[in-house]
Amino acid sequence: MLKDYLVKESSFNRLTFQTDARLAPHTTFGIGGHADYLVAPQNEEALISLVAFLREKEIRFGIFGNGSNVLFDDKGFRGVVILTNAIRSVDFRDTLVKVSCGASLISLSMQAAKHSLSGLEFACGIPGTVGGAVFMNAGAHGGEMSDIVLSSRYLDAVGNVCEMTQHDFAYRHSVYQDGDRIILSCCLGLSYGTESEIRAKMAENKQKRTMTQPIKDKSAGSVFRRAEGVIPAALIDKAGLKGLSVGGACVSEKHAGFIVNRGGATACDVLALIELIQQKIDSVYGVQLIPEIRYIPES
Ligand SMILES: Cc1cc2nc3c(=O)[nH]c(=O)nc-3n(C[C@H](O)[C@H](O)[C@H](O)COP(=O)(O)OP(=O)(O)OC[C@H]3O[C@@H](n4cnc5c(N)ncnc54)[C@H](O)[C@@H]3O)c2cc1C
Repeated sequence: MLKDYLVKESSFNRLTFQTDARLAPHTTFGIGGHADYLVAPQNEEALISLVAFLREKEIRFGIFGNGSNVLFDDKGFRGVVILTNAIRSVDFRDTLVKVSCGASLISLSMQAAKHSLSGLEFACGIPGTVGGAVFMNAGAHGGEMSDIVLSSRYLDAVGNVCEMTQHDFAYRHSVYQDGDRIILSCCLGLSYGTESEIRAKMAENKQKRTMTQPIKDKSAGSVFRRAEGVIPAALIDKAGLKGLSVGGACVSEKHAGFIVNRGGATACDVLALIELIQQKIDSVYGVQLIPEIRYIPES
């Protein structure tokens, strides 16, 4: 039934799909078992139809962008993993940018610089999609998505396309984490600047990142959330946990806030290492670290 639907839709080039697909290559961690189905809609209409079909048939699904903030289970995902990263139209109108959920944030920040538009310099090294970045209120170098998102369009739980301007943004939080909505696109408000200055700021941000983060290693970025007066990486470093490992998962020697996959790491390794770090930091400093990365269970 689902396969028939996907075959038909793919014959009209509305989506691509694989069955029993490995998830690891679709994540920056390089971890995750097989999904029953991995589907990449090619445009917004195809995504909306697919979700309507899955909801009607009560088939489990999850929506992901670039898989740069998730940890899939070693047993994979029972149901349909939908990747948005083929839905990436971008439309610049003066200082406004209308952008689809699957557009790459890094590529968007470069396009903005080309249009002499300032506001996305902070995002030039965040390896996610726009949808994932709005969902997480991604940020760096003193900027975050909440500074530039004017509105977003989304598919609600019953299949209506709606728009919102209030996103309840907070540190690494948006209203999208609280419900069953799928981000379709958003409108960003940028401001005119000087291309060379924008590019210089981006180069400075990239250099800071290269110097301080293990960007060549497989990871999902910062593992733990910051909290009032708590910088997880500083505590983990101070506790001497750099290099601590479980199986193939290891606390980065370069940045104690990152867990890297040294090769062959499993989700079990990462989860066990997270727990070990949490226990040590709790026992030494009495601080409970909360994960920022999102673990996606098998079912
Ligand atoms: C090397 C590295 C550096 C990083 N640096 C930073 C940083 O500086 N700042 C920062 O904030 N993050 C950083 N991250 C984390 C990550 O890149 C961001 O959180 C990013 O915004 C996630 O986007 P994504 O498309 O990969 O989302 P995914 O990982 O695919 O998904 C993340 C969550 O968003 C949901 N989601 C994705 N798309 C949609 C959609 N269209 N509708 C509804 N829900 C959706 C998913 O269900 C999931 O729960 C880094 C990661 C890496 C690997």
